[in-house]
Amino acid sequence: MLKGKVAIVTGSTSGIGLGIAKELAKAGADLVLNGFGDASEIEQIRSGIERDHGVRVAYDGADMSNGDAVRNLIGRTVEKFGRLDILVNNAGIQFTAPVDEFPAARWDAILAINLSAAFHGIAAAVPQMKKQHWGRIVNIASAHGLVASTHKAAYVAAKHGMVGLTKVVGLEMAGCGVTCNAVCPGWVRTPLVEKQISDIAAQKGISQKEATNELLAEKQPSLDFASPEQLGGTVAFLCSAAADQITGTAISVDGGWTAR
Ligand code: NAD
Repeated sequence: MLKGKVAIVTGSTSGIGLGIAKELAKAGADLVLNGFGDASEIEQIRSGIERDHGVRVAYDGADMSNGDAVRNLIGRTVEKFGRLDILVNNAGIQFTAPVDEFPAARWDAILAINLSAAFHGIAAAVPQMKKQHWGRIVNIASAHGLVASTHKAAYVAAKHGMVGLTKVVGLEMAGCGVTCNAVCPGWVRTPLVEKQISDIAAQKGISQKEATNELLAEKQPSLDFASPEQLGGTVAFLCSAAADQITGTAISVDGGWTAR
């Protein structure tokens, strides 16, 4: 389905991004992986995807907190592969604190990585996608792009911003073969959420299992996590011909979180 296409997935050395990268590779896309981590583990991931799916996979360690680095990632990819078809803006971080105690440096970092990186990536990618008359931009927002929770001022602001940016880009690209959509996951069990489970367990003096049940029961009516593979499947669908007319919208994969 995506044979001959080239995809960048930011923040794909772990969690949801890795799940998305694998699903796109399964569909035949060549890939640029991005994100932090141990060099030998990243190389194992890279060569594993290449071997399992028979696609070309490169790794680029660009820091998504730096706008120029994001733009250079796009430029290097086009130079290396000769094209760019799919950009998945997925890299993200979390920090929780009441708004009046929220460290300004954490606010700046979350806004930079979770929102501004998508702006820089899209701005740099769109001319190439327009030239090709085909492109898919998928922004990994969150249920927190649609509704709020306490103690997540920066994250909720950034993710709402991501949904707004998605609408603008969807409108600006309408009719050029380039779509832009947001995916809004509920809880997905990744390192980003493991930390929040540990925090609940520590604060309340309960076990990891009890904290996990509390986390799900509070927000996610299905009482189950969405998986990185399911998020990958959603992104692959948005890259398919069935989604040619889906643009400027947000798709929830949240076990019912935002239905109530
Ligand atoms: P994760 O911590 O498992 O992965 C985050 C990835 O981003 C890693 O590859 C990490 O190296 C990379 N990253 C972090 N800072 C970076 C930087 N400055 N430059 C480049 N890469 C950087 O987290 P995850 O849960 O897989 O989250 C992925 C995305 O999904 C995030 O945008 C997150 O907000 C969103 N999301 C997650 C959940 C969830 O429940 N896990 C729910 C909704 C939305």
